[in-house]
Amino acid sequence: MIVSIPEQYEKLEATILGYNPQADITTIHRAFEFADHAHEGQRRKSGEPYIIHPIAVAQIVAEELKLDSESIEAALLHDVIEDTGATHEDVARLFSPTVADLVEGVSKLTRIQYATKEDEQMENLRKMLLAMSKDIRVILIKISDRLHNMRTMEYQSPAKQRQKSLETMEIYAPISHRLGMQRIKWELEDLSLKYLDPIAYNDIITSLSSNSVEHDAFMQRTQSQIVERLKSMGIQAEVYGRVKHPYSIYRKMYAQRKSMDDIFDLFAFRVIVENTSDCYNVLGVIHDLYRPILGRFKDYIGNPKPNGYQSLHTTVIGSDAIPFEVQIRTREMHEIAEYGVAAHWKYKQNGAGAGTEGRYEWVRRLLENQEGADAEEYIHSLKIDMFADEVFVFTPNGDVQNLPAGATPIDFAYAIHSAVGNRMVGAKVNNRIVTLDYTLQNGDVVEILTAKNAKGPSRDWLKIAKSNEARSKIRQWFKKEKREENIANGRSAFEAELKRCGLSLKDVINSDFLPTMLKKVAYGSLDDLYAAIGYGGFTAQKAVGRIHSELQRQRQERQAAEAAADAEKHASEAPKTPVPTKAPRSEQGIIVEGLNNCLVKFARCCTPVPGDEIIGFITRGFGVSVHRADCPNASPEKRKDPTQSGRWIRVSWGDNRNESYPTTLEVVCKDRRNLLLDISAALSTTNTFVLGIQSRSTEDEFAIFRIEVRIKDSQHLHNLMNRLHQISGVLKINRPVG
Ligand code: MN
Repeated sequence: MIVSIPEQYEKLEATILGYNPQADITTIHRAFEFADHAHEGQRRKSGEPYIIHPIAVAQIVAEELKLDSESIEAALLHDVIEDTGATHEDVARLFSPTVADLVEGVSKLTRIQYATKEDEQMENLRKMLLAMSKDIRVILIKISDRLHNMRTMEYQSPAKQRQKSLETMEIYAPISHRLGMQRIKWELEDLSLKYLDPIAYNDIITSLSSNSVEHDAFMQRTQSQIVERLKSMGIQAEVYGRVKHPYSIYRKMYAQRKSMDDIFDLFAFRVIVENTSDCYNVLGVIHDLYRPILGRFKDYIGNPKPNGYQSLHTTVIGSDAIPFEVQIRTREMHEIAEYGVAAHWKYKQNGAGAGTEGRYEWVRRLLENQEGADAEEYIHSLKIDMFADEVFVFTPNGDVQNLPAGATPIDFAYAIHSAVGNRMVGAKVNNRIVTLDYTLQNGDVVEILTAKNAKGPSRDWLKIAKSNEARSKIRQWFKKEKREENIANGRSAFEAELKRCGLSLKDVINSDFLPTMLKKVAYGSLDDLYAAIGYGGFTAQKAVGRIHSELQRQRQERQAAEAAADAEKHASEAPKTPVPTKAPRSEQGIIVEGLNNCLVKFARCCTPVPGDEIIGFITRGFGVSVHRADCPNASPEKRKDPTQSGRWIRVSWGDNRNESYPTTLEVVCKDRRNLLLDISAALSTTNTFVLGIQSRSTEDEFAIFRIEVRIKDSQHLHNLMNRLHQISGVLKINRPVG
């Protein structure tokens, strides 16, 4: 059956107008003519003019997927950028930028060279393809292209047949399944099987055709039984019977190690009804007509499959004890089952004329609407696919490397091996030299240039690298290779931080304190500590933070001892009259200047604790209210307010303090798992009694904890704040007022 090119093209137009009377036939015809001209003189392996192929691909895009005019134009033009002199600009100018992008997108997928790899690699390849298809129509056209190539695979060499079939089985059929396009998936699988296991394929085909008379009779009989019963019940329905497709029979034979005759359900019937409630009515009818097999009923209407598939499935025993499956669904469920994403796409097109954004939006919604554990996993994998937070690139020999989005050649090099990273002197992407901070794109072929005498990573690489893996390997290198340098750098960072905190290196490394300090920072020697700071495994801030309070304590003890010695000296010089120790009385640990025995309470707004600078306010009838000096309610303006003159009074902390004082801390953190766990640990190791914790997360992934605690004294508060600061992710600790 040889059909002329004009006839094939006319058939395409008729198909398009059949589902889309508003199609832009003029432009589609121009696309056909442009492609025809561009491919002039080129022939397919079959000897036919090349233009046969783009027309056939457009026919699939129209007939199977019912896509819009732009997609048809792109299908007709899909090989012109790759195989002829035409450029993206030409197509953009003559048609539209969108059509040019679609053609370019398909060409990019065509350029990818696949080699058979282990499963993980295949999954990465599938993800890469989806990630590269920024517009879903790109992958739909590419799948149609592949389908036509598989249909005409007989003209290729056996090696090519095998290679393309493997690719199809491992990449394109799973993607079609993922996008819910069952019909195309089946055909791709059957065509692949034909070349991958020709003997088994032919056995199945032969067996099916030799029994086809019996099969047909059985299906006819069963179909009319179902149709008549439904009619008598007044249920509107269409009933179709089919033999399962060869690859699904093949898989069952293989998995169950059975011959064709023993395959459980070779036949399937499909009942398509008007609405969901009829689905369940039909189910009742079927179970009344035939004996159901227990455990084979599945309600995918109540629990849709992750790819959006909905149907009722049941397996029953028919006449002659032949089992068969019945699938029951509505027309809409049916279209989505057959055409998947393409059907959704079509429905969406008829609605609002969405931009590219909108196109993603509906895919995302479609996927997020699915429920169930499997669905969640699926959504997760597809989200990665569609809204890439990953980037997929090739090694020169075709392995796929999966890196975080934004990754650079440095990340790539360290993902290959740390030795490659450490010897890197440059990088090539798609055969061009790039800078090391180049952002890798999906599908890039990356080659790392190395040299035996490379001087190793530079510290800047830590800032350029996007993956933790690369960063930690770079740090490893600095740790090992540059110990002397690290020690020197670490020492100066440590010294600078001490200085910033008003300490000196001398205080720290005196022989009394050194062992305590090393224990606090958990390093064996001072050099180890410096080295760790030097290569970035530890920070000078953390080191100083851990020893700060201990140092202060020691210093205070020393000063107290000195003061005592001083006093003794003075005492010995002074007259021997006893000095009356007239310690002022204090209430709750507060000494109010000039007032004894007055009622004292702590302001709720700023909850002062011992050590805080404080000021008192004489309230009317409730004694003296004690504020922190930095409380806005005790601001200098308020203190100068003439109407309140004389009510502000100096107060200070005395000796007979309360056991503890309530106060509130606000801890601002970068949100992460187990944050609260670490905060509780800090509270408990500092013996802090907790009155309450509130937490909230902000939209930009921060968490804010408001912690009400009881504080004994300034030392206690200091320890607690220190501990909290050491928690990774903690950015700021406030003592809120008001
Ligand atoms: Mn093609």
